Amino acid sequence: MAEIVYNAGVLVEGKGFIMTAELVNLLNRTRTSKKADAFTESVIREMSRLASKHKATNLAQGFPDFPCPQALKDAASKAIFDDINQYPITWGDKALRDAIARKTKWHLGMDVDPETQITVTCGATEAMASAMLSIVDPGDEVIVFEPYYENYGPDSILCGAVPRYVTLHPPEWSFNREEMTAAFNNKTRAIIINTPNNPTGKVFDREELTFIAELCQKWGVICFTDEIYEHILYDGEKHVAMHTLPGMEDLCVTVNALSKTYSVTGWRVGWILASVEMTGAIRKVHDFLTVGAPAPLQRAGVAALDLPQSYYKELAVTYTEKRKTMLGILDETGIPYFTPKGAYYVLTDISGFGYETDVAFAEFLVKDIGVAVVPGSSFFRNKADGHKYVRFCFSKTPETLEIARQKLLKLRECVGQTLTPH
Ligand code: GLN
Repeated sequence: MAEIVYNAGVLVEGKGFIMTAELVNLLNRTRTSKKADAFTESVIREMSRLASKHKATNLAQGFPDFPCPQALKDAASKAIFDDINQYPITWGDKALRDAIARKTKWHLGMDVDPETQITVTCGATEAMASAMLSIVDPGDEVIVFEPYYENYGPDSILCGAVPRYVTLHPPEWSFNREEMTAAFNNKTRAIIINTPNNPTGKVFDREELTFIAELCQKWGVICFTDEIYEHILYDGEKHVAMHTLPGMEDLCVTVNALSKTYSVTGWRVGWILASVEMTGAIRKVHDFLTVGAPAPLQRAGVAALDLPQSYYKELAVTYTEKRKTMLGILDETGIPYFTPKGAYYVLTDISGFGYETDVAFAEFLVKDIGVAVVPGSSFFRNKADGHKYVRFCFSKTPETLEIARQKLLKLRECVGQTLTPH
């Protein structure tokens, strides 16, 4: 093998080590940004890839495996045939913004001006990233509840912000008021709330949100609220939108999307509701990041948002049935769980299986049992805190859940025993 000798540089007194152009060149070729180096790939999306590799039943990434409403498919094809195929207005198709305003009015009783307070984005993922990049500066602190949906960590890092964690304590996933109060300080710029919550299934009640809202008002802190599961609620739970609490109109940035409510996670159509001033900044960042979400799918979103109110009742009934099936499977298998009050995930306690980590257990499950789940550690900054949990998604057809059931029943013999991971 040919040997290449590089001239690294010289040590100059008073100036330190000066790299040669040759070394700089070599380093530049392999260097990636500190921001990108500061976080790992999404474990949730990786589990979907592993599920297809091992042909496993995918109860990992949160997406339905059943069709979206026919009205949406018709509207999407019609939009394409109607030649709605060029760039939309960068902050969103007018018809869709009007539909979002109409639905927000009847559903949350909130008035939002479609001309100045709504930005349509590529899903809730871009919504959260664009909103945060528009408002949060490097060095600012952002309060994040733990366990958290994994995107909020990288979102904070991309802003150069410092995440500050407040624990949601099991089994109710409640926060301690003193811990919450202590998290706020002069550097706090924002707090992220996700209700109904992923991965815990917690639904923040009015009293909890009011407590947080008062702290936000005391410190002038912005509340980013991710309400993508707002219609997926159980046992008579009610969704309370932070934006509607007194004094929060100008401090709240609400993120939502078509994805979960209308079963179109692949469409990538989301939106942000915010004050006129914040919307101005958000629209600029959004424009230079993505220009806009797909035009025909935005137009089809009008059909989604204009669905009758009965649609949401049926959705809740359907999910109640799915939750019942999923919890039944866990009962039969002997896996303890935290009953979710909202969203479509169930966090389970796998400590009885004797695996050292959640990742090892999830690998065993996907390879040997044929079911993909999300390892709990992806929801915690200190990975050991998540070792006893894995998350199951039950946004699946009865047939898929039955297949998962058959496979998971094989675990019955394993509870309480130490299995040998492969
Ligand atoms: N929210 C979904 C989950 O937690 C995933 C969303 C996504 O992958 N963009 O599984």
